[in-house]
Amino acid sequence: MEWETVIGLEVHAQLKTASKIFSRAPTAYGAPPNTQANEVDVALPGVLPVLNAEAVRMAVRFGLAIDAVINERSVFARKNYFYPDLPKGYQISQYEHPIVARGRLTITTDQGEKVIGITRAHLEEDAGKSLHEDWEGLTAIDLNRAGTPLLEIVSEPDMRTSAEAVAYLKALHTLVRYLDVCDGNMQEGSFRCDANVSIRPRGETRFGTRTELKNINSFRFVERAIDYEVRRQIALVSSGGEVRQETRLYDSVRDETRPMRSKEEANDYRYFPDPDLPPLIVTRAWLDERRKEMPELPDAKRERFVGQYGLPVYDASLLTASRELADYYEDTVKAAGGDPKPVANWVAGELLAHLNADGLDITESRVSPQALAGLLRRVQDHTISGKIAKDVFEAMWAGEGEADAIIVKRGLQQITDDSAIEALVAQVIAANEKQVAQYRSGEERVFTFFVGQVMKASRGKANPARVNAVLKRLLSA
Ligand code: ADP
Ligand code: MG
Repeated sequence: MEWETVIGLEVHAQLKTASKIFSRAPTAYGAPPNTQANEVDVALPGVLPVLNAEAVRMAVRFGLAIDAVINERSVFARKNYFYPDLPKGYQISQYEHPIVARGRLTITTDQGEKVIGITRAHLEEDAGKSLHEDWEGLTAIDLNRAGTPLLEIVSEPDMRTSAEAVAYLKALHTLVRYLDVCDGNMQEGSFRCDANVSIRPRGETRFGTRTELKNINSFRFVERAIDYEVRRQIALVSSGGEVRQETRLYDSVRDETRPMRSKEEANDYRYFPDPDLPPLIVTRAWLDERRKEMPELPDAKRERFVGQYGLPVYDASLLTASRELADYYEDTVKAAGGDPKPVANWVAGELLAHLNADGLDITESRVSPQALAGLLRRVQDHTISGKIAKDVFEAMWAGEGEADAIIVKRGLQQITDDSAIEALVAQVIAANEKQVAQYRSGEERVFTFFVGQVMKASRGKANPARVNAVLKRLLSA
């Protein structure tokens, strides 16, 4: 039997607002427990929620970017359940009337482009956190995260492989960061993903029963969790069993999924419109203002990089992976002048390698765009070779200063002066009589040996074109 996998993702993106979605308390991460929660977040009796306009702006910006319908009227609803980290006894969310509906996102995989439908994106508040580690035998509650604004982004069950799911998640991750609505930090939980997975015989049009996988906090784990779950479901169904609709926890250490609870049904939550919050109305004029605030989006930027800088699509995709990296590249091109392609090679090559090695983000680069441009200008005007430039970059990275200062201090200027090169060539010819005789008897292959020796004698600083010319002349003399 041939099986087809069906995947739909639910992503919770924490919105980058300064304060909570329904209170003035700050949203900063990592503060001591319960220092960022006010009377609304801890649900004292009699308090009332007030909607944060910035959270609405961010949700709408996201909706516009995925070509969605922005609902003129959306409604906050109470999702009722009991848990110690939820002091109100309900979460304020949106249910029947979300602010954003029917959008789409284009992904690229080895199979080409594919459009993934986005069913809805709605605003809701986060819950608090239970702490176990420092409290032996007890559970402590930290309500700092309670009331943090979330955008829950629900996809259609449009993905058919774990690779597509990863591509979708990455595209979404890039997008929310471009839009500056979410910092995308998966370790800190600002960008979380649940994967819904089912299988069906290839050719079948109805969907199979799905399981929902929780606790997936990296791109690699999305792929692994789905692959494991697909294998489990196929084995189960193939041996005559049935998939149960349930929520399963992904354990990245054991690389498996385990049942957590049977899937709750929507009516278990007793959703109803929150009487403390009026319907949210988005006017046409307000929406038009949001349209004007839209930044250039990843796909448009990539295409512009191809057109404006003549970059291959591969380089353009790499350099537009984040807005900050794209800005870094453009700032360097502007400062360096000249051909933009070598700049792309340097940013995508040497710079990214150094950032990765030191675990730094592009915004934390030890070499600024202006400083990198200063180095590349010295390559352009042949003061140094591309090879020496890598050593200079290394020194810049280590904090030794600007390119020009390092070149002078270390005496790295390229030797282009023929008389200096002649001296080196004469030295090499004198030291290698056997090879000279070989060359003069017609063995032209040894020429590259001479070039290598002269370059070595100059410690890489001789201009290779001049070395070639001088060698030809002196060897045939
Ligand atoms: P719930 O709120 O119970 O999680 P939703 O209707 O919001 O349910 O759907 C959650 C996700 O499950 C969506 O991303 C949807 O695409 C996905 N989904 C629905 N049915 C299936 C299925 N049979 N197989 C895989 N994913 C599915
Ligand atoms: Mg769900």
